[in-house]
Amino acid sequence: RILFRMAIAAGCNRSPPAAEDVGVDTVIVLFNRDLRVHDHPALAAACQEARRVVPFFVVEPGLPSGRRGGFLLDCLTDLRASLRRLGGDLIVRQGEVVAETVRLAGELSADAVWASADVSEYARSREKRLAAECKRIHTEFRTFPGVTVVPPGELTPNGGGDHYRVFTPYWRVWSSTRRRPLLPAPARVVTVPGLEPGRIPSSFPGMRIRPVDGSQASLNGHGGSRGVPAGGETAARERLETWLRLCVADYDDGHDDMAGDRTSKLSAYLRFGCVSPLEVVTRAEAEAGGEPFVRQLCWRDFYHQVTFAFPQINRVDYRPRKEEWREDKDALDAWREGQTGIPIVDAGMRQLKSEGWMHNRARMIVASYLVRHLRLDWRAGVEHFFDYLLDGDIANNSGNWQWVAGTGNDTRPNRVLNPIRQAKRFDPEGDYVRRYVPELSHLPDRAVHEPWKLPSPIKNYPKPLTTPPAA
Ligand code: FAD
Repeated sequence: RILFRMAIAAGCNRSPPAAEDVGVDTVIVLFNRDLRVHDHPALAAACQEARRVVPFFVVEPGLPSGRRGGFLLDCLTDLRASLRRLGGDLIVRQGEVVAETVRLAGELSADAVWASADVSEYARSREKRLAAECKRIHTEFRTFPGVTVVPPGELTPNGGGDHYRVFTPYWRVWSSTRRRPLLPAPARVVTVPGLEPGRIPSSFPGMRIRPVDGSQASLNGHGGSRGVPAGGETAARERLETWLRLCVADYDDGHDDMAGDRTSKLSAYLRFGCVSPLEVVTRAEAEAGGEPFVRQLCWRDFYHQVTFAFPQINRVDYRPRKEEWREDKDALDAWREGQTGIPIVDAGMRQLKSEGWMHNRARMIVASYLVRHLRLDWRAGVEHFFDYLLDGDIANNSGNWQWVAGTGNDTRPNRVLNPIRQAKRFDPEGDYVRRYVPELSHLPDRAVHEPWKLPSPIKNYPKPLTTPPAA
């Protein structure tokens, strides 16, 4: 058993062990936010240590509807195909995850249930309940790393029990920490024969249909609205390859170019674990000019360790605030619909609705506009983003929203982004605005960010909701 562990640690891709060598008979690998076969520590360990491995996914009633629902179905279909190619399968059941896992463990007399550890309040309560239920039926429950590069809670300031509250010291320690080696996909998955695989549903209630498959169109592309990409590990790995080969070296110069779309668009794949963050980081580090991109992935780990320490991050101010937020339903609706009359804000909000994704710079601008100019509660922003973003996840979404609102980890919590100045700097030709706000597509560069300065109003485009700040 120890030898198998060492093989996993060394990233060795060997055939499954002979039956007499194995430590356990049957292990259920419970998938959740780790929908891949490459660099999957729980799956790799199960394939090395157990005689039979049962990859398992439970479709819960509360699973993402909206955009993320369609993406998740792609991920499951792709994962099942990969596992079948390796000789196994993905067993799918519908119901409550703890109850269904315990039921399957009972049916199979499984020795163990293994899963990737996660950080959200819900995920951790699920892990606790699973541990208790597995104990009750004398089945081992164990969690493995894999959702982040460095497991949350592993790095603590001055070796104490607290978490990092400021990014730069975290980045310093994170980038010099020794990491586990990358694991290949298992050579074979030997499973329990004759198990009913279960159906991957064709839709979830409230699921929105993707308008166009933009999976390949959007890497460094130019042109119109890009549609929603296909989910799954295969698509994720293709995107990663293209990104590393063609684009990562340009990231430092290009990531703030709103119209150029020069970021990786790996976020939804990372959200569902279609690609391992450790693999993305390890491979980007080997590329010339990869460091600025790796730094962004460190932000992801940073917010995950904050969420691990402060699980109520999506509801409660991390840094308490004294002033009350305003309530204004009409203003909130105008913001949500991209009808504020501030072109750069409206372009971002419309990109979110049409593509399920928004450029990071636009996310900062629209978020700052909601909390600083409209003075509306960041929680309304978190909720709306979470409804529409393909990459919507609790740690990154809430952590970034609180950062912009000044209640989070920003060391300058009173920072206000001037949307006009930001627009002129990061969308100097106005192409981003023209792409998503067709009412303004005929305007010349110098007018597109400030249409209220034109002698006559623009047809079908609203007047600014708030007095526009001077550029
Ligand atoms: P790239 O620029 O190519 O970056 C690579 C990866 O690094 C991203 O995929 C992401 O995993 C990570 N990353 C980059 N920037 C950040 C950041 N600021 N914080 C944390 N991780 C980062 N990201 C999400 O994944 N989910 C969210 O729900 C989310 N909500 C956000 C809300 C607000 C208000 C803001 C300002 C940012 C939010 N972000 C969120 C962070 C960031 O905007 C996206 O990760 C990024 O735009 C995704 O595009 P990309 O994959 O092309 O990123």
